[in-house]
Amino acid sequence: MSIPRNAFQQMKMIIRDQSRVLASEEDLVSYGYDASFGFYLPDLVVQVNSAEETAGILKLANRFKIPVTPRGQASSLSGGPLPVKGGIVLDVSQWNKKLIVDSEDLVAVVSPGVVTAQIDKAAAKYGLMYPPDPGSSQMSTIAGNLAENSGGPRCLKYGVTKDYVIGLEVVTPQGEIMRTGGRTVKNVSGYDLTKLIVGSEGTLGVITEATLRLVPRPPSSRTLMIIFDHFIDSGKMVTKILTSGILPAKIEMMDGASIRAVEAYKPLGLPTDAEAILLVALDGHPAAVKDESEKIAEIAKNTGAKEIKVAKTDQEAGELWQARKLVSPAIVRTKPTKISEDATVPRSKIPEFCARLQEIKMKYRIDLVVFGHAGDGNLHPNIICDKRDKKEMERVEKAIEAIFHAALDLGGTLSGEHGIGTMKSAFMPWEFSPEALDMMKRIKTAWDPNNILNPSKIFPVPGQRLVLSE
Ligand SMILES: Cc1cc2nc3c(=O)[nH]c(=O)nc-3n(C[C@H](O)[C@H](O)[C@H](O)COP(=O)(O)OP(=O)(O)OC[C@H]3O[C@@H](n4cnc5c(N)ncnc54)[C@H](O)[C@@H]3O)c2cc1C
Repeated sequence: MSIPRNAFQQMKMIIRDQSRVLASEEDLVSYGYDASFGFYLPDLVVQVNSAEETAGILKLANRFKIPVTPRGQASSLSGGPLPVKGGIVLDVSQWNKKLIVDSEDLVAVVSPGVVTAQIDKAAAKYGLMYPPDPGSSQMSTIAGNLAENSGGPRCLKYGVTKDYVIGLEVVTPQGEIMRTGGRTVKNVSGYDLTKLIVGSEGTLGVITEATLRLVPRPPSSRTLMIIFDHFIDSGKMVTKILTSGILPAKIEMMDGASIRAVEAYKPLGLPTDAEAILLVALDGHPAAVKDESEKIAEIAKNTGAKEIKVAKTDQEAGELWQARKLVSPAIVRTKPTKISEDATVPRSKIPEFCARLQEIKMKYRIDLVVFGHAGDGNLHPNIICDKRDKKEMERVEKAIEAIFHAALDLGGTLSGEHGIGTMKSAFMPWEFSPEALDMMKRIKTAWDPNNILNPSKIFPVPGQRLVLSE
């Protein structure tokens, strides 16, 4: 769809600075991608930097029925910011000036384009912490995190993004500016619209400001690397730690394929003959951290661990975590296409899910690398493939379906943190009853009767299936 001429003229009155309205082919192509592998060309990109501008654009778009897709840094792995129906991409990534920490109320008030890691860094100056730490926290925006309800390693102990947002400023699809929640940690007045917007993947409203809860920063931490000869034992170890009375800040897993990929990418002295490693971070009072780390080492010995390394300094801990951070860049060196899944299972089912993933890998002869947030059952089975290879992609389609079946059979969900977007919408009827899906659609229609905001996300179209091989 192209933008009607008079709508374009009126837009110039809303965004006076024309350098923030992008329409060249190079710009439009750049805004056609995210970190998944879909591609859709927008008709126009508008870089907004106030609630009033956002409201003006949405009023106009609603009147002319122009699709609008909000976008942060486009690190989405589910196709969330892709402009499937064309129209306007509303880029909030440049709107990043406000980052106020109030150490008495223990809150941060931020504009939508602030990069997540900057919030934790600002909180640290006051002895506070913003816990949600997606792997992309050095690049992703807080608005993107809120829209996807992002998780991360530290969410095992501290909870996910939705647990830290207490107030929002939102622009509705009809262009009304609205506040939800506030600055109090407790608030039960009326329906909780804040939590409805969080995780709505940019389909209900555009987030223009957020008030976030901060917590005291733990005084000490310790990292352990636990090395296994058998992948399944690492899954059993996660369950044993969590039923031992200890709640680590993080439990991350890397399988043999990811260990070897990282070591080939950057030699760090990782055990390339191991079939899995667990990285465990403990935090809290120094005495408790010491005690818990000894207890975990004991559990590891009794669960078949081959070796346990305990970082003695912050620098050593940083080196151990570097291995986990390098998995994503390391695994894409063998083939150009990476499909990153985040199907999640109840914690007691982690060993069984690990076993099912290995069966799927063998059955469909795919390059499957498994790593991720094992502590909360949120593994990342990543398929490394080449989208130009039709035969391989047919096997990948079947493998993805099998992964979703396995997770749902085990009482899990299609997505623990990356969202549904375009990549998983075809499978929504596998997880939800027609009644539940219909209720979600009715909520969408009540907020956005003209379906202009991020259309073609979350909900399947009849007969839709995953097709990667065309
Ligand atoms: C290497 C790597 C590691 C990652 N690790 C993790 C991880 O550990 N945990 C995790 O959860 N995710 C992870 N992700 C996925 C991704 O980073 C997150 O989903 C992130 O929240 C997206 O933020 P973004 O700013 O890039 O948003 P985008 O990708 O631009 O957009 C994401 C969604 O937010 C919507 N949106 C953007 N701005 C607004 C707004 N102002 N109002 C309303 N909706 C809006 C978009 O429409 C879209 O639906 C990772 C991605 C990569 C590439």
